Amino acid sequence: MASKKDVIRVDLPDSEIPKQWYNIVADMPNKPAPYFHPGTKQPIGPADMQAIFPMELIMQEMSADRYIDIPDEVRDLYRQYRPTPLFRARGLEKALGTPARIYYKYEGGNATGSHKLNTALAQAYYNKQAGLKRIATETGAGQWGSAMSMATNHFGLDCTVYMVKVSYEQKPYRRSLMETFGATVHASPSPLTHAGQAVLDEHPHSTGSLGIAISEAVEDAATHGDTNYCLGSVLNHVCLHQTVIGQEAKKQLASIDEYPDVVFACVGGGSNFSGMSFPFLQDKFKGGKVRCVAVEPEACPTLTRGTYAFDYSDVAHLAPISKMYTLGADFVPAGIHAGGLRYHGDSPLVSQLFHEGIIEAQAYEQIPVFDAAVQFARTEGIVPAPESSHAIRAAIDEALRCKESGESKVILFNLSGNGYFDMTAYDMYFHHTMKDSKVSDASIAQGLKGLPVFG
Ligand SMILES: *Cc1c(COP(=O)(O)O)cnc(C)c1O
Repeated sequence: MASKKDVIRVDLPDSEIPKQWYNIVADMPNKPAPYFHPGTKQPIGPADMQAIFPMELIMQEMSADRYIDIPDEVRDLYRQYRPTPLFRARGLEKALGTPARIYYKYEGGNATGSHKLNTALAQAYYNKQAGLKRIATETGAGQWGSAMSMATNHFGLDCTVYMVKVSYEQKPYRRSLMETFGATVHASPSPLTHAGQAVLDEHPHSTGSLGIAISEAVEDAATHGDTNYCLGSVLNHVCLHQTVIGQEAKKQLASIDEYPDVVFACVGGGSNFSGMSFPFLQDKFKGGKVRCVAVEPEACPTLTRGTYAFDYSDVAHLAPISKMYTLGADFVPAGIHAGGLRYHGDSPLVSQLFHEGIIEAQAYEQIPVFDAAVQFARTEGIVPAPESSHAIRAAIDEALRCKESGESKVILFNLSGNGYFDMTAYDMYFHHTMKDSKVSDASIAQGLKGLPVFG
């Protein structure tokens, strides 16, 4: 057995891929609030969601069972890239001169480059089982669209991706990757849906947003009997599927007799953070001391500066209202390079855990995030995704605090993806054309004016 003294990389055999997903709802001190219908403002049940989701996923969305079995076929697909490796960041530790031990779980090694494949495979599987022919979905930066394209391709489903226009234009290779896996990709807002056309009528040059693209994909699914909708983050079942990450990380650390003092993961919609942290929070609910910290961009500071309220999930108010930290469904964040972190809201589960003081949150500007990304690339040899680099920044700062105090803490972070499709962003960083952008209080207040009104 490797020991923590000399370990660099911890691998597990594929028999150690979890057989079940962990559902944190079973252990949360308070149960999550229900979803509400955006039109009637009444609580919604399983029947209301059937227009766009298969029943198995609806049941998972509403489940309070602690463990949910991973279907054999999905687990077999996981074997192509799981268990993912856990690394000790020796190079980074040395460069920082920290007494802390830093570990990271690397989810960027699969063919689509991020953790999102963990849920894409599961969602495609359940839709195939339910007899669907096509999936409609949105993508911001392109990672989710890539994962869904690969998953639908495997199961012989068609895939239509509404890609936020600014990314569609700036990231042509992400588009090509989706097309390679057989998907049809439209720039959003598109004239193909009422939701997209309505935005184009008002703003012909709109560069799009995740909230608009979600509206288009939901409308497409709701108006076609053979088509369902898939979302890459936020929802309970998506967070659930990602818990393979934290379950594996726990086993890997245990195999070298380690346990983290603090866990960092970036948060966009929250599934990546959930996947890494929920299995550790399971220990915390039983009296464990681990700190779990969600790291977000200052340009979209949902947890650190948003409001905990019921809000719409999308611009056209087609998807359910949920209770979450939000900047308002009409909030359009600056075009920062961590495109996967630009959603106006957050997972209801992550939001509730934050509201109840069970987890923490931090926010960073993008230039210090890229400083950390480059330091990581040069010391560890992996080019990190801009999104993941938020967690790296936070882990480095924690390690530097350990250097001040002399504490040898164990720090764990999730490297949710690689950055090889993001070299334009790195290019801007190196040539000093990247800008920090902090949101004004006024624009947050403006975004929150559109919160739903009940009764
Ligand atoms: C999408 C994405 C994120 C954000 O994930 P959430 O689950 O929405 O918080 C983080 N890292 C990478 C690499 C991503 O592609």
